Amino acid sequence: MPKEAKAREISVAAETDMLLDTTVNDKRIAHLLEKADGMTRSLAGNRGFIWTAIGIDSTPCDMGCSFCSHAARWDAYKTSPPLSEEEIVEKAGQLADGGADFVVLRTTQHYPLEVLQRLGRLTRDRIGSDMHLVINTGEMSLDTVRALKDSGYSMSYHVVRLREGQDTGHSVDMRMRTIENVLRGGLELQYLIEPLGPEHSAQEILAEARRARAVGASGTGVMARVPIMGTPLAQYGQVSDTYLKRVTAAARLEYPDGGQHLCVHPPTPQTLHCGANTMIVEEAANPRDTSSSSGPWRAFDLPRARAVMREAGLAVRPAKAEG
Ligand code: SF4
Repeated sequence: MPKEAKAREISVAAETDMLLDTTVNDKRIAHLLEKADGMTRSLAGNRGFIWTAIGIDSTPCDMGCSFCSHAARWDAYKTSPPLSEEEIVEKAGQLADGGADFVVLRTTQHYPLEVLQRLGRLTRDRIGSDMHLVINTGEMSLDTVRALKDSGYSMSYHVVRLREGQDTGHSVDMRMRTIENVLRGGLELQYLIEPLGPEHSAQEILAEARRARAVGASGTGVMARVPIMGTPLAQYGQVSDTYLKRVTAAARLEYPDGGQHLCVHPPTPQTLHCGANTMIVEEAANPRDTSSSSGPWRAFDLPRARAVMREAGLAVRPAKAEG
């Protein structure tokens, strides 16, 4: 590595170590939050993005992740009938018309490829070609990725989770194989540090922040774990908004030259001033809750997301009604 790049890396590491050190007070890291904010605004041209996710199934899942309400072994989810294909396409269309930048179809680990292909084609027809259709599903071979791309998907959400293999039924290798297939198969990748809890160390967090850059994800960010009673990790609770802001800034500082969509979830408007520019509106089945929602999760809907973005000085995609 050239000397200059090495020096830059060392200086970023000192800044992110400071951000994630809870013995350092907020006054001493305020300049780093501001720096991260400026970096994202410059990278994305002051644009804010809205990620809209439809949980299309809540099938009891055999992967047994220690935080997830869909895991069969915790029996925490109130089963609800799956959405019909018509309902899914209709919801996707409404979200696209309402100003979403991404329409995401999210499933549990094992979901039939042929249904995803059909939904991809129908949804792409409905939302048009100028926005991302994202797949968030289980592990994918290269052939599966190519089939999904041919069906209209343009991006995948896939990550190595914090404490993968310890708190999940996956291994890092499984996840990385899928990520490599996603990229080789021509889909963009969105990669968040997740599911962040109070027990995770700075080293664990920074390893995933750096992996987002190493794999060349087009988006990065952080998702805080929401405690689900009955799951083993609920005992640790949830990180504070103040800490979430610090991790947001660290994700930006560690990825200064890409990952223009920096997403934070659950929606935390303060993070739009320290490096985030992407928020999530989600509907239907949800691993962060114990039942499916008939409308937007926790009432955080598209108009609210758009208003929050604008209040933070970020431009949003016009809704259809606005022309
Ligand atoms: S996080 Fe995904 S893979 Fe893990 S139990 Fe939940 S649905 Fe299954």
